[in-house]
Amino acid sequence: MKAVTADPSGGLHYSEIPAPALPEGGALLRVTAVGICGSDLVKLGHSPAGTVLGHEVAGVITETAPGFTRFSPGDRVTTAHHIPCGQCVYCSGGNESQCRQFRETNLVPGGWAETIAVSGAHLNAVAFAIPDDMEDAVASLTEPLGCCVRAIRRSEVKPGEKIAVIGLGPVGMMLAALYRHAGAEVFVLDRIAKRMEEAAAWYGALPLPAEPSGLSEAARSATGGFGFDQVVLAAGAGPTLTLALDLVRRGGKVHLFSGTPEGELTRFDLNAIYKREVTLFSTYSSSPRDLAVAFDLIATRKIACENLISKRLPLSRVEEGIRAIRSGDAYKVVLEPGRS
Ligand SMILES: [Zn+2]
Ligand SMILES: [Zn+2]
Repeated sequence: MKAVTADPSGGLHYSEIPAPALPEGGALLRVTAVGICGSDLVKLGHSPAGTVLGHEVAGVITETAPGFTRFSPGDRVTTAHHIPCGQCVYCSGGNESQCRQFRETNLVPGGWAETIAVSGAHLNAVAFAIPDDMEDAVASLTEPLGCCVRAIRRSEVKPGEKIAVIGLGPVGMMLAALYRHAGAEVFVLDRIAKRMEEAAAWYGALPLPAEPSGLSEAARSATGGFGFDQVVLAAGAGPTLTLALDLVRRGGKVHLFSGTPEGELTRFDLNAIYKREVTLFSTYSSSPRDLAVAFDLIATRKIACENLISKRLPLSRVEEGIRAIRSGDAYKVVLEPGRS
């Protein structure tokens, strides 16, 4: 079958690889839509030869193992790639993404492929049947939206809180939409003005001025001089941490929803946290219950995500999709392996 494989120098190859075997107790899925995620781009150049990236998957079940009953061949399904055990110290404490099983489970060989093997555990815990009126590409947004739903839950946002979202890639846009849905007043900041305009038009967010001088003034006047109750970093967490600490109010929260490149250190004034009683916390990845909420929000159209699909490309044109993301031309690019 065809798949996109990565090499350690960061190159990608549209190549022929062996199709996965039918997993015991699970199913084979013919991939019809798979997103390119920011986390895939971070792994470029850090993956062993032959790695197949991609984890935001939707497709059609083609074959099921004996005894597996939840789905049948022909069913359209979207699935996430990691499953927590539900019982360890991390899972019981609500840190499902830190669970050892969560980190060790995956789709085989990875989503940027024509066919993947999906375990029964995945299909029972983190997969959803796609309704007739939902496109596969839209269904593939369940995984990234699930991460954002978990972020909102962990933020314990209250209606009326003033939230600043910094960085409007697809997840920044989803966070803006979800914070609005939770009743917060959402302010957005991105170096691309068009993205702030779209966050305003699509999700009712309020753009902040991009120039530093205008920014602190606007933040003060938007918050009665206090600063934002919460600031969430959805891009470039290193360089923007100081900015977030400037914008957050005393006693407020700074939420890391993005990291830095491996090995990169960040300088910031610890007193901006300590003396001002600011809480710094993070959300990494999703959990089964948040994926279920995300899927429902898409299915019931309470959160409109389809605008965030900027491009659909055949698997062979993955590099064109990555360029569009890096240049800021695209929010989400969805690869459609069946497409030519
Ligand atoms: Zn992702
Ligand atoms: Zn666990």
